[in-house]
Amino acid sequence: MKLSEIDATLRQIRVSPVKTLGQNFLHDQNLARWIVAKAELAADDFVVEIGPGLGALTEFALASGAHVLALEKDARLADFLRENLRNERIEVRHGDALDFDPRELFVHGPVKLLGNLPYYVASQLLLRFIAQPSAISLGVLMLQNEMARRLSAQPRSPEYGALTLLVQSSYKVEFLRSVPKTVFLPEPEVDSALIEISPRAPGELPDHDAETFRRLVRTGFSQRRKQLRKLLRSEVPDWSAAVDDGGFDLRARAEELTLAQWIGLARIVRSPAPENRAPGDPELFPVVDQGDQFVRLAHRAEVHGDNLRHRAVHIFLFNAAGELFLQKRSWRKDRHPGTWDSSAAGHLEGEEEYDIAAVRELKEELGVTAKLDRVRKLGPSDQTGQEFIWLYRAQPEGPFQLEPAEIETGGFFPTDLIDRWREARPGDFAPGFIECWKAFRETKCAGTAER
Ligand code: SAM
Repeated sequence: MKLSEIDATLRQIRVSPVKTLGQNFLHDQNLARWIVAKAELAADDFVVEIGPGLGALTEFALASGAHVLALEKDARLADFLRENLRNERIEVRHGDALDFDPRELFVHGPVKLLGNLPYYVASQLLLRFIAQPSAISLGVLMLQNEMARRLSAQPRSPEYGALTLLVQSSYKVEFLRSVPKTVFLPEPEVDSALIEISPRAPGELPDHDAETFRRLVRTGFSQRRKQLRKLLRSEVPDWSAAVDDGGFDLRARAEELTLAQWIGLARIVRSPAPENRAPGDPELFPVVDQGDQFVRLAHRAEVHGDNLRHRAVHIFLFNAAGELFLQKRSWRKDRHPGTWDSSAAGHLEGEEEYDIAAVRELKEELGVTAKLDRVRKLGPSDQTGQEFIWLYRAQPEGPFQLEPAEIETGGFFPTDLIDRWREARPGDFAPGFIECWKAFRETKCAGTAER
């Protein structure tokens, strides 16, 4: 909309911009077109737009043929958009975008995030939508200039801080351009800027424990002027070795370390498991007959290559809200890399028993122990890769320590969301999980803890 149209529309719908809702409407159509073009929308894209207002960006997004979910807090604007856009590819949802559950977006697959964000709540909104695990595959966002600078900052600059690193450890952030106040009605009090964020590719950064990384960064920036060797003394007692390893100054402060050097510190504090077994230490799986009776041991490659019957465990972990923890398998896995899977799962090794293997897998993959209840046993099939599977459930206290060599990310998901997600996008899941989930849903006792 042009300036005169925005003015006329606001008068027509009797709305005067509400400052506390960050209502500054974009009237530069060339800029609106440019912003949406940056998102490179195609007809099969799904877009979530935060704060569509009068639809400055929404119109262009819809013109691309993409589906748009628009989250607007002001009921008058939400009504106006529904009335004005009348397009079957848009859903306008009235409500606070901070109350929207971004996990819903997994049902729509990779989702693009668009918005001229309301500045009073921009950082909370951004962090909520990009928190891991996230379905966002690209974001083009207008923010306060100062916030955009912080997110895209480089080491040794005043804007470089904990927020920079926490975001940049999962996303690449590009500062696109500054935006003058004059493109908005009314003009905001602060300068604006556009950024583009895109998730880092699997394997782009060395494996590290995300929780350790976050803790170190927060501690390191808690006193910006203080040397890290003092701030991190209890976490990294051998600071000289860390300096040799990371190649930074002995007296470095938090703002001097690059993302890679921070990750290096996290790897010193909690070293990830080796990516591959040592040569001469092959995994030996028990090959079993139709009745799950032990026949012989065979190498993993032979078992999988020749589709031999073998044994596995899957574990479903629920939180107090009855949500199921799903893990995203590492991109390095030889089978079903990057797919969503049971909370923990793995093969029985040697002549190990099912119950013992379940405890071991839980500890190895998530770093927890819990009282495990048997749910049911699944027979071998093509879907399970000829595995006999014992499925377990538990409600552990946590917190989990995800093993980076095995797991890319993970999170709790409501069970009805998993049903809809599986229905809409079965390819997002490992086939073994799908079989276990179906079996779990069919099992009568399944209805007790989860919702
Ligand atoms: N996208 C429009 C544009 O470019 O002209 C409007 C941008 S304006 C800066 C921010 C918009 O976010 C307003 O429409 C405002 O009502 C809406 N908004 C404010 N707080 C919100 C929240 N918590 N959740 C969803 N929308 C919100």
